[in-house]
Amino acid sequence: MKKLLAALLVTATSLSAAAQPVIDAHLAAAKKAAGTDFSGTIARLCIVPDAPVGGGAGGPRPIPDRATWYAEPARMFDNLYWVGTKIHSAWALQTSGGIILIDTLYNYAVEPEIVEGLKKLGLDPAAIKYVVITHAHGDHDEGARLLQDRYGAHVVMGAPDWDLIEKNVNIPGGVPKRDIVGEDGQKITLGDGSVTLVSTPGHTLGTLSLIFAVKDRGRPVTVAYSGGTAFNFPKDVARYDTYIASQKKMAEAAKAAGATIIMSNHSEFDDAWDRGRLVKLRRTGEPHPYELGNDAVQRYFTVTSECALAMREKLAQR
Ligand SMILES: [Zn+2]
Repeated sequence: MKKLLAALLVTATSLSAAAQPVIDAHLAAAKKAAGTDFSGTIARLCIVPDAPVGGGAGGPRPIPDRATWYAEPARMFDNLYWVGTKIHSAWALQTSGGIILIDTLYNYAVEPEIVEGLKKLGLDPAAIKYVVITHAHGDHDEGARLLQDRYGAHVVMGAPDWDLIEKNVNIPGGVPKRDIVGEDGQKITLGDGSVTLVSTPGHTLGTLSLIFAVKDRGRPVTVAYSGGTAFNFPKDVARYDTYIASQKKMAEAAKAAGATIIMSNHSEFDDAWDRGRLVKLRRTGEPHPYELGNDAVQRYFTVTSECALAMREKLAQR
């Protein structure tokens, strides 16, 4: 028995000794891919992956002081408006048929940021026809019910996330009534605009990422919108594998669509709040602060994949 235990220990030790260089290689690959463009993403995913994240299911929590989150809305592109907080993003894609809204923030922010924010930007919140929820966590879904009830907007979510939100009966703002189940490859079209859904399970099982076109001073450009990022999901190897496969899938979808812009629903990952202020200072001839190019979009997904591979390797060794 003692001999067997000793043998097992030797195996375990040699395994973890072999694992460390593998983990280090993934971390180095993530760091290289991040460069100076995605420091927030690498900090969250590779350096402090277990830190608590805003959102998640659960009961009511205290509303933070408005000064810590309130942000002025911004017209980010000709037809894409940012109506987020300093921390979380919501986006309004303006089309000839009305507005497709992406993500809805916490309940406390939906009125001041989305409803009032759209008005400040000269848009009518009653024109919101579709609300696409990228995943059913409080920081992105709590505002959905208000928009559904007040404006009759159609709410789109992945099937597993409809199940998730319906279990969470105490959601501030209320649970939206089940409406459109977003499928992989589905195109949500409104007037002359559309967003294409890419099913990217991992962060939640129903996470939807998006591909859509916007105009920058009249020039069409393509956005890859990552629907779920952090690793606050059950810690098992299979879940990491799912997440990693989704990053690869979204990178390919972004490449096929020629995306030069990567967006997220947290400023931590894409600096939305900063870019919303920078765009106001942009002069004629200057590049758009959000447009980092095809290569950067690919590097973003390398960062998320490589950090996940490092964490997966750690987990596999336990
Ligand atoms: Zn989340």
